[in-house]
Amino acid sequence: MTDCLFCRIVAGDIPSRQLWSDDRAIAFLDLNPWQLGHSLVIPRRHVVDGRQDTEAWREVAAGLTAVAQLVQDRLGASGVNFLANSGAVAGQEVFHFHVHVIPRYDDNPGMAGLSRRDPQAAADLDGLAARLSG
Ligand code: AMP
Repeated sequence: MTDCLFCRIVAGDIPSRQLWSDDRAIAFLDLNPWQLGHSLVIPRRHVVDGRQDTEAWREVAAGLTAVAQLVQDRLGASGVNFLANSGAVAGQEVFHFHVHVIPRYDDNPGMAGLSRRDPQAAADLDGLAARLSG
């Protein structure tokens, strides 16, 4: 869909800091991270959200585990939150299915770390992408 932001990222028309991909999905850094290494995994196919589409979850599954492993190995994350906002009322702003992978660190545990964007985590997204890709 040409008017979908994430379809345009999949097509390469809009740049992203891509960390991982396969033939069904891609993963890239979120522009407004809540935590260092906050990433999104999306299916290449346009799916509005995951509520009625079981296959979409299969499409992103390999990316979810790959990104969780990357942030553990390269950033020292001790855990992650997987989050899929589904529907505007749930906070979904981009209507192409995506799962947030939010790395969690020992110095900022619990649900409070999920409540706001962290400017420090956005300080050097290019450097971060280099640490997480390749
Ligand atoms: P949601 O509120 O679940 O729809 O999340 C949408 C996410 O997409 C937000 O966390 C945004 O920061 C992120 N986002 C929006 N545009 C871009 C972009 N061009 N590249 C990377 N992330 C983006």
